[in-house]
Amino acid sequence: MESAPLVAGVELGGTKCVVILGNGPDAVEEEVRLPTTTPAETLAGIEAVLDRWIGFAGLGVASFGPIGVDRAGADWGQVTVTPKPGWAHTDIGRRLRRRYGVPVGFHTDVVGAALAEARWGAAAGLDDVAYVTVGTGIGVGLIAGGKPVDGLTHQELGHFRPLRLPGDEWIGSCPFHGACLEGLASGPAIAARAGRKAEDLETDDPVWEGVVHALGQLLHLLVLTGVPRRIVMGGGVMTGAGHLLPRIRAAMTRSLAGYSMLPEVAIADTFVVPAGLGDRAGPIGAILLGQQALTAL
Ligand code: ADP
Ligand code: ZN
Repeated sequence: MESAPLVAGVELGGTKCVVILGNGPDAVEEEVRLPTTTPAETLAGIEAVLDRWIGFAGLGVASFGPIGVDRAGADWGQVTVTPKPGWAHTDIGRRLRRRYGVPVGFHTDVVGAALAEARWGAAAGLDDVAYVTVGTGIGVGLIAGGKPVDGLTHQELGHFRPLRLPGDEWIGSCPFHGACLEGLASGPAIAARAGRKAEDLETDDPVWEGVVHALGQLLHLLVLTGVPRRIVMGGGVMTGAGHLLPRIRAAMTRSLAGYSMLPEVAIADTFVVPAGLGDRAGPIGAILLGQQALTAL
């Protein structure tokens, strides 16, 4: 990709944005971080950076969701029904396309991260990949045949309802579902349940058992539906709590109970892996979305 045209990327997160110019992880020309505040202020800040970079051939946006990803839809390029104050129905993709006159790729932060991991990270060379982030929220970027699994919109696997551990009746923290996966196992869910931050919990704190049980079921579900060739796990909770990954692998294997255990899945250490790009996956994913918009022309 060294000779590829320069592309700009925007990772739009719930608390911060990264605006980036480059071609890939080893070819980043410049990178600027901004806080995510109101849409007007944040988009003006992003544009102030991009305005200095005239000359990029494409632009990619990897955004928090839910967002409109159907190119034929009226809501393409928008953050849609988010509870995040002020952000519902905010147009980003069309606004930036108008301003810069370049092809714009627009998808979720987790799809961007999944594409980046599948190209340059822990799933490099694979076309069928799931990327799971466990952080402030839980999101899954699912890639099949090199493309995001989209339908009416992007999928939202972070909000399925796992079975509970016997006797566990904690109500969960999701404002919509209570004890969905995100309401049981995201960083804020862990904090709400434990009464202190996830980073302050001991490895043997019983709260982790429910977290591991719920995430093991996500992997079980992915094995049966998304059928990825590898599952990459990242986000602040996964990278911060290093004891989780082996426990979640074991929970997946227990939950599958011998069914659908292809050799690739059975060797859980290479099937479920930590993110290779770490917190670089988001911004690099935005660059990749921009490159894909260019090549889709
Ligand atoms: P975001 O999802 O907003 O991009 P992160 O992926 O950085 O953010 O995740 C933030 C979450 O990670 C917070 O809920 C925080 O409590 C949790 N976290 C950060 N460090 C650790 C740690 N060492 N152990 C467990 N959880 C952690
Ligand atoms: Zn939910």
